[in-house]
Amino acid sequence: CTDVSKLYDPKGNSILAVDEVSLTIRDGEFLTIVGPSGSGKSTLLRMIAGLEDITDGEIRIGDRVVNDVPPQRRDVAMVFQNYALYPHMSVQKNMSYGLKLTTDLSTEEINQRVEETAEMMGIGDQLEKKPGSLSGGQQQRVATGRAIVRDPEVFLFDEPLSNLDAKLRMSMRTELQRLQEDLETTSVYVTHDQTEAMTMSDRIVIFDEGEIQQVGTPEEVYANPTNRFVADFIGSPS
Ligand code: ATP
Ligand code: MG
Repeated sequence: CTDVSKLYDPKGNSILAVDEVSLTIRDGEFLTIVGPSGSGKSTLLRMIAGLEDITDGEIRIGDRVVNDVPPQRRDVAMVFQNYALYPHMSVQKNMSYGLKLTTDLSTEEINQRVEETAEMMGIGDQLEKKPGSLSGGQQQRVATGRAIVRDPEVFLFDEPLSNLDAKLRMSMRTELQRLQEDLETTSVYVTHDQTEAMTMSDRIVIFDEGEIQQVGTPEEVYANPTNRFVADFIGSPS
């Protein structure tokens, strides 16, 4: 992203949610964004995904400027905090729907890919069920599987584990790390969880009031916070 901004204007009370953010995500990187509630993390992800118009700036994916490219043509897949599964569709349909819309793969190829991904996510035997009859952890797997099956250039995760209990969160964290290694994906991962950020990331972005406060490896931001805000937020020794 180059100089990307977002100005919300609900009834004249304009809110600058993202303020001239420039950030380059490296190929194969796991980049985490942390920051207080309301700092603009979700807005930034949604702009990258194409779910939110950008007010200013440029978003590039690979060498393509995607400002005017609709979400389904951006080659990104997003996993939401509430999973955003289609309640009336089976797991199989949830996972295949996006592929049907955006690729010209045959139904057989799509079904095969869905089956393999579901197997990999440990939900191979849940394909005929509706999301409502699954546990939170299983729904999380469907949401992640739905993103993986599209084989996108970039994965966008918006607090994907925050609705899970502590134990499940820990095992899903390990699982996401394993997927990252196996599939060599590029991911942008928003979280409130310091431990997730410190253990999973190649680099961490500390975000506040729509601006990047610092970008660096977990070690760098912990050992050398650039300002008081980062130090307090990360809990660096002072
Ligand atoms: P959280 O950690 O609570 O999820 P966040 O960092 O994801 O917060 P955003 O959801 O991006 O924050 O919100 C950033 C700012 O933009 C907030 O002030 C929020 O109130 C505002 N905002 C978000 N979505 C809209 C919208 N659709 N219309 C108007 N203002 C919005
Ligand atoms: Mg958010």
